[in-house]
Order: sequence, then structure tokens, then C-alpha cells
Amino acid sequence: DEIEALRATHISEYPDFPLPGVLFRDIIPLLRDAAAFRTVIRYWTSLLPDDIEYVVGTEARGFVVGAPLAYELGAGFVPVRKAGKLPGDPASLSYDLEYGSAVVQIPEGSLPAGARTLIVDDLLATGGTAAATLELTRRFDVEVVGVSFLLELEGLHGRERLPDVPLTRVWSLP
Ligand code: 5GP
Repeated sequence: DEIEALRATHISEYPDFPLPGVLFRDIIPLLRDAAAFRTVIRYWTSLLPDDIEYVVGTEARGFVVGAPLAYELGAGFVPVRKAGKLPGDPASLSYDLEYGSAVVQIPEGSLPAGARTLIVDDLLATGGTAAATLELTRRFDVEVVGVSFLLELEGLHGRERLPDVPLTRVWSLP
């Protein structure tokens, strides 16, 4: 169909980026095509649960897809940022990467307890980023109604790290 056809034409592939052996999927061809970007954001919105109050998006491409989703849904947008970018006293979580670790943060006071909250990012690979975002988001005692991605790389089994939350995605690749 139209949406599936856009995956083939609007996601490009770069072998050995950012490291040897990694096949990087680039979403910029989708972002820069006004009609395609609008079509995909509206289709993505149709997959999501009702009455979402906040969309939580992960730096940096989770901002680019999360903000228009929030706008379409009539929800607020809350950024999850890498350490050192947020003022005040943000909530922080350290999580393991393949080599070393990273810290993600959410602005203080940004999610009221019980709020219906959706977590989004452009791409689900190993699931480490989304699992960390989910754990940090849940510290605010919100109701996480789902995690959602533009593209799921199924072969990396990221969804196994998100077992207890509904998962939706626009596209998947083996
Ligand atoms: P994970 O933590 O699931 O292994 O990796 C997902 C995170 O890394 C997401 O925030 C995503 O933006 C980024 N990422 C990993 N691989 C790719 C890729 O091939 N293309 C894009 N656009 N982002 C990727």
C-alpha cells in the first residue's frame, strides 16, 4: 500500500555507519518530503491509543517525529535528553550501552502522576534506548499507554526488552 511504498522510497541505507558492520537507516528523505512526512505522521497517529496527554520523545530524532505526533494528537511534548542539556533538577537514569554507559534525563515536574503517556522514537534497534526511556518515564507514576516507533528492526529483538507495554510501529524490517 501507499505507506509501505513510502518505506522503500524514503528510508535510505548506509552500510558501516556509524561503526563497521552496522547498516544505518536514514529517515531524512522522509522528513524533507513535505507530502510524505505529513502522510506518514497522520497514518502513525491513526495507530495510536485515544486520549494521550503527553508524548515523550528521545533525543534527537525522537523530537523530530514526536513533536508532530503530539501536535496531531492534541498532546503535550516532553523531551528526553542526554545528560547536561536540561536546567533545574531533571530526573536521571544511567543505562548500559554496548561499550560504556549513557545518562538520559527528563525535565523536573514535566509529567503529572496518572497522565496517559506515549513514548516515541524514530527507530527500535536493540531496545536499550526505549527501555531506559520507559524506566525513567515510569518514575513519574504516569500511565504509559504505549511505545511507538517509525521503524522496528525485528532481527535485533528490541521488543523483548519492552514486554509489559503495548508496542506499535509504522514500518518493520527483518
Ligand atoms: P537501540 O537503543 O534500540 O539499540 O537504538 C535505538 C536508538 O538509536 C534510537 O534512538 C535511534 O534513533 C538510534 N538508532 C540506532 N540505529 C539507528 C539507525 O539505523 N537509524 C536511525 N535513524 N537511528 C538509529
